[in-house]
Amino acid sequence: MRKKILNKTKKILAVLLITTMMSSVTVYGSTKATTPMKGWRYAKKTASYQVNSTSKKYKNIWSKATKKWIDSGFKWTKKGSSKTTVASYEDNSKSGLKIAGYCNTTYRASDGVIVKNKIRLNRAVFKKYDYTEAQIINVAEHELGHALGLAHNNQGSVSVMNPANRYYSIQKCDIKGMEKRYSTAINNAVVRGDEIITVTEYFLADIPVIKNVGVKYDTKKIFITGKAKGCKYVTGKYNGKEKTVKVESNKFKLVFDYTKAKDIKISGLNSKKERISRNKKVKVEKYVTEKPIYDKIKRTGEGIKYGVKTVANSTLSFKYKGKLIKKCVIDSSYTNITIKDSILKGKSGYFTVTQKENGKKISKKMKFPILKKGEASEISYYQSGTGY
Ligand SMILES: [Zn+2]
Repeated sequence: MRKKILNKTKKILAVLLITTMMSSVTVYGSTKATTPMKGWRYAKKTASYQVNSTSKKYKNIWSKATKKWIDSGFKWTKKGSSKTTVASYEDNSKSGLKIAGYCNTTYRASDGVIVKNKIRLNRAVFKKYDYTEAQIINVAEHELGHALGLAHNNQGSVSVMNPANRYYSIQKCDIKGMEKRYSTAINNAVVRGDEIITVTEYFLADIPVIKNVGVKYDTKKIFITGKAKGCKYVTGKYNGKEKTVKVESNKFKLVFDYTKAKDIKISGLNSKKERISRNKKVKVEKYVTEKPIYDKIKRTGEGIKYGVKTVANSTLSFKYKGKLIKKCVIDSSYTNITIKDSILKGKSGYFTVTQKENGKKISKKMKFPILKKGEASEISYYQSGTGY
């Protein structure tokens, strides 16, 4: 991905965001053994930088990030005045919060030598998404990587130059890329002439996501599990009830008492319990299946015959006072089930019947009356909303 803007330092952020998003569809997962390079570099494997941050915290971040590059073979020297400046800013706006930082590089087209570099980190992102100090240092290392002439490694790569990461510091592939950048001729600029080119590389904020959501239901409780990377808490809203749980090693588990078949809304929170992830919806059909209903019952000398509306490919379980009486596998949406007279001996009242679909989702319990010999009943159902 190359974003070049001739003689311009300001550009429309939205356009760049779209470019970045489009490029994220490409190769995912693998790590290039040598992190690719940009069309610029310093004249030598050394450069000075000027810290414009005033806080102790950020001074420390710059010192640690540059130290890491120094240990990796690129010599950064802190000076009171330099063409390469580093600082932080705070952009809390909706679009601003998508950017963790940027590196604005100006170089000569004729030979690719850097004229100046401006590195900025967005404090608002770090606060909102709970970046640790180590993670902020990783972002600073990433921007310093662009500054010295590195491009992005792949999406999902284990590289400080991963285009949307906060977890990786400088890796072997990055050191190899830097070594290659400084042992390869500078001149690979597309434009020849006396132009001065300015390029801004935006580093996307690592926005927390909720994924791999699984749900289980056992007629009394609903269990929701999943991953919530970058979130401190996860909150779930279900039938007017809200529950918040702590995220442990990127995982969460929410448990609700079953009250009604309703969709459940889940979102990730930061340490201040502000919503930071997109909402995730667990649809009703994901955890509860329709309850079985009978429309005809008849008791003869043979036993009781129930005409049952079901979900195809499910299992019906008949229980009497908690004890399993009959289990039937159903492959159609209407079925006749007979419970033999010998089984009915001494039983009265009702059976509780549940329906389990594909061995995972289960319905609410239904009561199926146990008629006396010679009795029959028929029910005409109204078509109403959901059958959950
Ligand atoms: Zn970048």
